[in-house]
Amino acid sequence: MDPNSFPPGGCVALPASREPARAVVMIDAGHGGPDPGALGTTADGRQIAEKDLTLSTTLAVASRLRDRGVTVVLSRSTDDLGSSFGSSEQQADPLTTAESQRDLLGRVRCANQARADALVSIHFNSFDDPKVRGSETLYDVDRPLAPRSRALAQSLQSNIRAGLVALNRPSPDRGVIDDSAGSESGGGDLVLLGPRVPGYVEEPSAMPGALVEPLFLTNPGDLTAMATPRGVEVLASAISTGVADYLDGERR
Ligand SMILES: [Zn+2]
Repeated sequence: MDPNSFPPGGCVALPASREPARAVVMIDAGHGGPDPGALGTTADGRQIAEKDLTLSTTLAVASRLRDRGVTVVLSRSTDDLGSSFGSSEQQADPLTTAESQRDLLGRVRCANQARADALVSIHFNSFDDPKVRGSETLYDVDRPLAPRSRALAQSLQSNIRAGLVALNRPSPDRGVIDDSAGSESGGGDLVLLGPRVPGYVEEPSAMPGALVEPLFLTNPGDLTAMATPRGVEVLASAISTGVADYLDGERR
């Protein structure tokens, strides 16, 4: 699908390609605008920002889920973080901590307003050592929704690892990680999936959620395989199958 066919700005709903929709799912492209996320360099020297790879993956996942009868809500469908942050040209400075929190809370509000049945946040990992590889999927344990979030995370993790095998980049299993926005290692992007935090997250997301880190952008071999149209298609197919399998499981 042509990314330019999506409306600009944050929080857009894209209807399922057939009615009635079987579910509403939010796909959250991590980072965006002045926040590039992690940076990596492919084997042939191209620099890739996490925010661009999360967006291309998200748009491809959206297209596949809509074909499967799911209405998809996107926290962003372009590079921009939404009107309250201006365009990426206007906003050249990195986000302050307060702006980053406001951005994340805006994403939660989007998911809640859309009454999404599930939330999947797409990120890529990074580390100082370029040899480090592997796939992991996180969810927040400190919510009544945790068992359903865990089922979603497991479905995503296993499908992503199968996809990377298909891409000839079999990935070490770093596992489904029980985390919490309230724990020391949590916070940050996990706020999307976490419980109420008085004075900060007054209205937490109201649906099961998981955050995927399919591979390390800082591993040149993995990034080179992923930062191609085929890499994005394979990953998007895996994520959309992971979501669909989870929705089937909820129905039983
Ligand atoms: Zn990230």
